[in-house]
Amino acid sequence: MSSNTKYIFVTGGVTSSLGKGIISASLAKLLQARGYTVTIQKLDPYINVDPGTLNPYEHGECYVTDDGAETDLDLGHYERFLNVPTSQANNVTTGRIYQSVIEKERKGEFLGKTVQVIPHITDEIKNRIKLLGKTGQYQFVITEIGGTVGDIESLPYIEAVRQLKWEMGNDCTVIHLTLLPYLSTSGELKTKPTQHSVKLLLEYGVQPDVLVCRAEHAINNDIRRKIALFCNVDVNAVIEALDASTIYEVPVLMEEEELDVVVLKKLGVSVDGAPQLKTWKEFLYKLHNPTQEVEIGLIGKYVELKDSYKSIAEAFIHAGAINNVKVKLNWIHSESLTDENVKETLKGLKGILVAPGFGNRGIEGKISAIKYARENNIPFFGICLGMQCAVIEFARNVLGLKDAHSREMNPATSNPVIDLLEAQKNISHMGGTMRLGAYPCRLEENTLAYKVYGAKEISERHRHRYEFNNEYLTKFKEAGMIISGINPNAGLVEIVELNSKHPFFMGVQFHPEYKSTVEKPHPLFVAFVKAAIDNK
Ligand code: GLN
Repeated sequence: MSSNTKYIFVTGGVTSSLGKGIISASLAKLLQARGYTVTIQKLDPYINVDPGTLNPYEHGECYVTDDGAETDLDLGHYERFLNVPTSQANNVTTGRIYQSVIEKERKGEFLGKTVQVIPHITDEIKNRIKLLGKTGQYQFVITEIGGTVGDIESLPYIEAVRQLKWEMGNDCTVIHLTLLPYLSTSGELKTKPTQHSVKLLLEYGVQPDVLVCRAEHAINNDIRRKIALFCNVDVNAVIEALDASTIYEVPVLMEEEELDVVVLKKLGVSVDGAPQLKTWKEFLYKLHNPTQEVEIGLIGKYVELKDSYKSIAEAFIHAGAINNVKVKLNWIHSESLTDENVKETLKGLKGILVAPGFGNRGIEGKISAIKYARENNIPFFGICLGMQCAVIEFARNVLGLKDAHSREMNPATSNPVIDLLEAQKNISHMGGTMRLGAYPCRLEENTLAYKVYGAKEISERHRHRYEFNNEYLTKFKEAGMIISGINPNAGLVEIVELNSKHPFFMGVQFHPEYKSTVEKPHPLFVAFVKAAIDNK
């Protein structure tokens, strides 16, 4: 293969939510499984500089990379599929594009010229696309364009794709993802919306090379030929994407449709052999053949929108498969839990996870759930806010500090067991000002964490402002809380546990869910699921 990086663009048509992220990740997996280096980038056409300031109801979970970027949840899929970390460069929003163009304008870098969408915004988009290729680390860069073709806000991105396609020729290809709706009255898949969507792309000057068509039913050869003829693509470049039982099935479906082969040929890369998907398929086999089901409660305040906890749900899928069980998540709204109803509501759960979050809503319900788990020896796993709640619960009910709280929820508490660090106190901007990204953590020997990780030093990703207040450290330790993980540089408490009488009780200040992948299920999730299985 030539030394040039090859660029693959994935656009979407007809409707949103067709799964561009999963198609991109699946193609990337197939290329990786053929021995190529590949990364995936998401371009988001909204004005927020990053999704960090967005409420999870808007776009689901905010995913965090090692280098501390707050990104779209699709980056989570990229990492889970590829088992390769992403970075700030893998997610770019319109807000960020404009921010850097405006910063350059203020510095006088445009030398008196009028700054315009074309060429300045489109040039900045092109630079961001090529940035990943320029690192020299990747043979393929797949760029997923957020939104749907025809949206006003995604126009500059489509224009950037048109220009790159013109400039790069053979090194660049465009995949368009569309929907073939099924009309049950006539029993037909309809191609017109796809034809219109491709026409729209053509109006913008972009001829897609490959069409991936989402459909509820198989696409027969007549339909493939019809789409090919009306959309100027090869018949074998009309790819069927049937609804799958799990997202992890999609790379295999795409392999059967030869999406990788078609794309490689379009890019002038010779194709030999087949993708090596042995480990992937072993995982799928385990996923589809569990020996039992184990029910775990996920206590959070955004449970109506499951995308809010995407990485946690996926980490449970990975951890379940490796344990040969199916983890059934029971999503429980923390606002509905009280000390009075907690026993009844959580009855029968084999494990309880208290989710991350911000703000006061539902906090007391989370604390009730933790008290119940602690007192009844139910495996408990608290993540970020979940860990902070475990600290508050312990302070209130074991140390007897009745008004103990996090300063985030009650600024006037006389026992701020969770508090802001001095350095955080004067921050007024919301965007990008939390403790973000990977930090090292040193584990104490002879603790559950040490046993589970099997290492003395680990690295995990953070996204929070508040911390365990070390003024209370001695009191907690004396009362039996085990501090098993500490940030070696700042002395911050990162992991808390209970004594060995409890089968599994762990709160972590970081987000282990971001690092769980198909190939490397996260050890804490694996151990927690194991504890839930053992909880008779
Ligand atoms: N709200 C808490 C903090 O800012 C926890 C954040 C989280 O759970 N991600 O520290």
